[in-house]
Amino acid sequence: MVGHVAALLALWVQTAGADLEALPSDGARDPACRWLTETEHLGEREWIVHVVRPHERLGQVAARYGVSRDELVTWNDLSSPRARLRAGKKLKVRTDRRPPPHEKIEYTTVEGDEWSTLAVRHRVLPEELQRWNPARAGRPLAPGTSLTIWHDPGVPQTVNCRRGPAPPKLEYRRDAESLGHPQSGRLRNGIPLPDSPLWTRGRRDGLWASTHTLDTMVAAFTHLRVERGYEGDVFIGSISRKRGGKFPPHRSHRTGLDIDIRLPLLPAVPLETYPTPDNVDWPALWELIDAFLDTGEVSMIFLDRRLQRHLYWAARWAGKTPEELEPIIHWPAKDRKWEAIVRHARGHKGHIHIRLLCGPEEPRCAPSRSNVLERRGWIEPTPSGKESREGARARREAWRLEGRGIYGESGGDDDEAGDDEP
Ligand SMILES: [Zn+2]
Repeated sequence: MVGHVAALLALWVQTAGADLEALPSDGARDPACRWLTETEHLGEREWIVHVVRPHERLGQVAARYGVSRDELVTWNDLSSPRARLRAGKKLKVRTDRRPPPHEKIEYTTVEGDEWSTLAVRHRVLPEELQRWNPARAGRPLAPGTSLTIWHDPGVPQTVNCRRGPAPPKLEYRRDAESLGHPQSGRLRNGIPLPDSPLWTRGRRDGLWASTHTLDTMVAAFTHLRVERGYEGDVFIGSISRKRGGKFPPHRSHRTGLDIDIRLPLLPAVPLETYPTPDNVDWPALWELIDAFLDTGEVSMIFLDRRLQRHLYWAARWAGKTPEELEPIIHWPAKDRKWEAIVRHARGHKGHIHIRLLCGPEEPRCAPSRSNVLERRGWIEPTPSGKESREGARARREAWRLEGRGIYGESGGDDDEAGDDEP
């Protein structure tokens, strides 16, 4: 009997070990992952005290403990959810988790330090760094400058800390096809988005997809779950109706290749909460987008321009350079919006809208795959379309000098007024 239990236990340990296997890139030892081991789970809600750090917002405190801003207002007799918090103020919080507290670092700059590189190293926004050091703000950093940096090991790092288990394999038909343009076409033999641990499904009458879309979603989400180890909910709002066609309030979503995905929330935040900059898990959103880009099947992604800054810095924290991000995220550029994958469209504040390319085997889908790739100057038309991003920058530059295509495409027809449901 004991042997039996021991064998079971060994098996369990092995399985758990496989799920929690550290990433080769030494993810588990990454200081950003301290949250995983250092957050204390209290079993039930208890009163704890949170000490406010300089320029901390109520929304950040709420997301940290999985409570609402209104609760914080009530518990602490604050005047409103917009109230400014004084640094050092003690807030009463009733929560079931206690993440490790903020750490104040006094740092002396060395040759080569810049606001942006320090922000990347400490996973904060450059403007936060400047706010903590108002006397130095707005000027370049000289070596030997002392700075105050608030490091927060309590910010949940939900990606790149461990690998996740492989999802069960999905079976679906191969004959679902996009016909025509996203704003006027339809969907042939549409397939309902299957139930899977990869995603959480929204309204069922609006989750019909093409085979190519499902293939792409499975590839991207498997990468996000397994390689990036992301375990949070990802809510798929809408794709298309069963036969495609009109799908109010959307202007597009007619051919089974437009996907609305709610911005992923930080782990403690209840799923029904509307996404805001303070409660969105920006690193997880970046990895989700990067996983889709890696498929080579993305045509464009819509996200309100006021939110792109957060996505941009999450990508920088993940190691992307400004040069790598220039063709991917429109921010911080102000012009040429049609050149970047992630671009502004009205109504995309609570979700991103991913538009895929037409599949290689969808001759009646529009605009044609090769046309989109060629016009954009992003990837030259190739049989696979997955010719990768290497050299794309040089090519775009060459094409720009030649005055080819890329200025001819208006970004205006992508604007989707009224596309505001999550
Ligand atoms: Zn949309």
